Amino acid sequence: MASYGAEQVLVVGAGIGGLATALGLAQNGLKVKVLERAPVLGEIGAGIQLGPNAFHCFDWLGIGEKAREMAVFIDELRLMDALTGEEIVQIPLQEAFRNRFGNPYAVIHRGDLHGVMLAACRESPLVDLQVNADVVGYSQDSSSVSAELASGERITGAMLIGADGLWSRVRAQLVGDGPPRVSGHTTYRSVIPTELMPEGLRWNAATLWAGPRCHVVHYPLSGWKLFNLVVTYHNDAPEPVAGKPVDRDEVLFGFRHVDERVQELIRRGEDWRLWVLCDRDPVENWVDGRVCLLGDAAHPMMQYFAQGACMALEDAVTLAIEVAALHDAPEAALQAYQRKRVLRTARVQLQSREIGEHIYHPAGAHAQLRNSILRSKSAEDLYDNLDWLYGARPQPAEASQAQARRPGLITVR
Ligand SMILES: Cc1cc2nc3c(=O)[nH]c(=O)nc-3n(C[C@H](O)[C@H](O)[C@H](O)COP(=O)(O)OP(=O)(O)OC[C@H]3O[C@@H](n4cnc5c(N)ncnc54)[C@H](O)[C@@H]3O)c2cc1C
Repeated sequence: MASYGAEQVLVVGAGIGGLATALGLAQNGLKVKVLERAPVLGEIGAGIQLGPNAFHCFDWLGIGEKAREMAVFIDELRLMDALTGEEIVQIPLQEAFRNRFGNPYAVIHRGDLHGVMLAACRESPLVDLQVNADVVGYSQDSSSVSAELASGERITGAMLIGADGLWSRVRAQLVGDGPPRVSGHTTYRSVIPTELMPEGLRWNAATLWAGPRCHVVHYPLSGWKLFNLVVTYHNDAPEPVAGKPVDRDEVLFGFRHVDERVQELIRRGEDWRLWVLCDRDPVENWVDGRVCLLGDAAHPMMQYFAQGACMALEDAVTLAIEVAALHDAPEAALQAYQRKRVLRTARVQLQSREIGEHIYHPAGAHAQLRNSILRSKSAEDLYDNLDWLYGARPQPAEASQAQARRPGLITVR
C-alpha cells in the first residue's frame, strides 16, 4: 500500500477517537503523528458503555481481545421508574442479543480502555505520540497540510484529522459555527468501591433510574471492584462546566423527590464532579481539502444513547477503510468518509436529545405513556428498534462498492 510517500498523517487529540484513528491508519501502513495538548496522556476516571458496534471496531483495529479483558459483560440494560421504584423494562444482553448483533454489550473503565489503545499505539513503530502540542489552527496547499501549535511550531503532513473534542480548534477554523449548545443538563459523576454500593443495587446491569427532569445511571466496573455512578439533573444550567468538584448536598438537591434507594446511592458517592453537558446541531461538512473532523469534534452529542465514543470508533474505522482504498487521493478519501458518516451520526445526535426528553426525563402522563409503551415491547421488539444502531458493521470502501447505493458503512440503516 502506498503511504503518501514518506509523509505522515497528523491526528489532533489523543482521546478515544484520536487513538483509534492512529491505530486504523497505521494498519494501512501510514505513519501517524498524534498531537495532544495535555502534558500527560489519559482519560477521566469514569466508566463508559460500549455497544456491539464498538466491539466490531475494536476487532477491526486489532484490540478486540485486550478490550474484552478489561470489560464487564452486563446481563441487561434495566430501566427503573425513579419515583415509584418499579422496573419499567429490561433489555436482555445475553446470548440472544450477542447472536443478533454479533458482539456483546459491555461497560469498561475509561482509563482501562484508553490504556489498551495507548499500549497498541506505543507498540506500533508507525505511531508517534507528542504531548504538550496545543494545536491552534492549520494551513494547507495542494500537496500538504500543516498544524500550527501555540508554541509557534508548524508540523507538516499529508492529511490532518481533527479529533480534538467538544471545543475543537480544528472545527472552529473548518466549520466556524461558534461554541457548542449548552443543554442545561448537569451531570455529576463518582466512582465508588463495590463495598460502598448498597447491596440491594449490586446488579450486573447498566441501570437507569428515570425521573422528572432527572436520572441516575449505575453499573459495575474493573472486574466488579468499582461502581460507576452518573447522576443528571435538568436544571437549566446556563454555562458550560467540565469536571468541577462539588459536595454531595449539591448532587442530592435535584433528587429529594425520588425513591429512597436512589437517594441512598447518591449519599454513598464520593468525590463528586460536575459537568454541564453540551452538544451541537448536526452539520453536513466536516472536510476542508486535506483536513477532516472526527468524534466529538465532528458530532458532539448528549450521552443518552451512550454512543459518543462508539461513534468516534466507527468514524476511525471508516476513515481508515476509505483512506486505504484511495491512498493516492487523500481529499477524495476524506469526502468518501464524510459521505458515509454524516447522516448516521446526525441521527444519533438528534435522537439522543429525543430520548433524553421522552425516556430519561418525562413527568406525569408523559412518564406513564413511556412506561406503558416500553412495557408492551418484547425483547425482540426492542432489538428490532435498536438494530439500526447496534447492527452496523464496518463495510468495504465506497470505491469498491460500485453497485452499492446504500449510504455505506457503519451506515444509515
Ligand atoms: C456523562 C457522559 C457519559 C458518556 N457516556 C458514554 C458512553 O457510555 N458510551 C459512549 O460511547 N460515549 C459516552 N460519552 C461520550 C464520550 O465520552 C465522547 O463522545 C468521547 O469520549 C469523544 O472522544 P473524542 O476522542 O472524540 O474526544 P475527547 O475524548 O474529548 O478527546 C479530545 C482530545 O483532544 C485533546 N485536545 C483538545 N484540544 C486540543 C488542541 N487544541 N490541540 C491538541 N489536542 C487537543 C484533548 O486534550 C483530548 O485528549 C459520554 C459523555 C458524557 C459527557
